[in-house]
Amino acid sequence: MDSSERVIVIGAGPVGLCVSLALAREGVPVTLIEALGDDNFLEQVPRAGTNHPATLEMYDRIELYQKLEPRGIIAPVFHYWDRAANELIAAFDHVHLKDDTRFPYVLQCERIKIVEEALKMAKAHPDIDLRLSTTFTRFEQNGSGVVANVVNPAGEAENIAGAYIVGAEGARSIVRKDLDIAFEGFTYSDLTLNIEVAYDFRRHGYAERNYISDPTEWSNLFHWRGPPDRWRVHFPVAASEDQEAIRRPAALQARLQRFLPTGSDFDIVASNLYTVHQRVAKKFRVGRAILAGDAAHVNSPIGAMGMNSGVHDAFNLADKLVKILRGEQGEEILDRYERQRRHVAIQHTQAQTVRNKRLLAEKDPAVRKRNQDELRCTAEDPARARTFLLRTSLIESLREAEQIG
Ligand SMILES: Cc1cc2nc3c(=O)[nH]c(=O)nc-3n(C[C@H](O)[C@H](O)[C@H](O)COP(=O)(O)OP(=O)(O)OC[C@H]3O[C@@H](n4cnc5c(N)ncnc54)[C@H](O)[C@@H]3O)c2cc1C
Repeated sequence: MDSSERVIVIGAGPVGLCVSLALAREGVPVTLIEALGDDNFLEQVPRAGTNHPATLEMYDRIELYQKLEPRGIIAPVFHYWDRAANELIAAFDHVHLKDDTRFPYVLQCERIKIVEEALKMAKAHPDIDLRLSTTFTRFEQNGSGVVANVVNPAGEAENIAGAYIVGAEGARSIVRKDLDIAFEGFTYSDLTLNIEVAYDFRRHGYAERNYISDPTEWSNLFHWRGPPDRWRVHFPVAASEDQEAIRRPAALQARLQRFLPTGSDFDIVASNLYTVHQRVAKKFRVGRAILAGDAAHVNSPIGAMGMNSGVHDAFNLADKLVKILRGEQGEEILDRYERQRRHVAIQHTQAQTVRNKRLLAEKDPAVRKRNQDELRCTAEDPARARTFLLRTSLIESLREAEQIG
């Protein structure tokens, strides 16, 4: 295959897989490099799981949606709760978006299932040269192409030539570091504890997706399809706390009982602790190297925007690379990719996720009441609810990006 048309994609996460499948559908040859192999690819933590309507439309374009729907939960409604009062503050129904999207709901389907299904499709595609158990180490570029250095499954160094390289290898992107691009932003001082529980929280009035505010211990609660059917509960924990002690079974049980006193132990399936960063790369493109997904921007998971906005990067970028490789448009459209997607990362994803966390953690009782009154009024007014949902579901960000020249 001619390396003057080949796109090298680093990372078979949701973003790298979507870029690869979208390119290959248009006949662009792709080499997709992934450090994990068949033996450990499915051992990753489930991670992101809420897929917004616009993302579902994109999955549908590459015929991935139909593989995911049976593995997920269709969730049209999400809730805001006040933990101390145990009170439902507002219920938002995506039905208000029925004229804006073919998918007026989110699909609760974890990253691990998405990459499992997309990887099967990549394996079956004749235009995707999938290299599992292969670690990308560095790359070089000149005016006519790129060369990626990898370590192949036999442990040997190998060079792969292509026209462009897409860094979709997550927050620790080597492409970004090789290009010496600053990752600007901050890291939250508290950590997030994630506990996965086999227990049906719907019997207490919760929806499939819930944001629960509390001045001392806010929470998120999400439902995933099993087996076993699981709910993910997030809590903030101070970085100074003993991380081992936090994750001991008795400590997890005590924390869950404080959240929902059932009097009997929860069936805990898994738990993990993670650090949350809010960062955006100073540049998304240098010459023939382009960043997408977590390699370009990271944010708190409150609001489910990281993976979704990464997938939106993937399709925007694939469309542009196809046009360039077909000779329909010049390389300068990659600068438009940067203008569009960096704008979304800063003005939408970062701004919204920072706001979401502040809303849940607000300590001032007067501000909390004002916020909750506002949410209630917004949910009760169909026009305002639609505007709110356009923003939270990232449709507004895509429409705004289209206006950027
Ligand atoms: C606990 C948790 C919950 C989250 N919840 C949500 C949510 O509800 N909604 C949401 O939208 N987002 C959520 N996120 C964020 C979401 O998981 C990420 O935004 C998303 O996975 C980014 O996708 P990506 O493809 O850019 O990178 P990744 O998913 O990180 O994939 C990168 C891939 O690159 C591979 N790789 C890395 N380095 C190399 C190398 N040198 N050579 C070859 N391969 C390499 C990795 O093995 C991996 O397969 C959550 C994150 C966490 C940690």
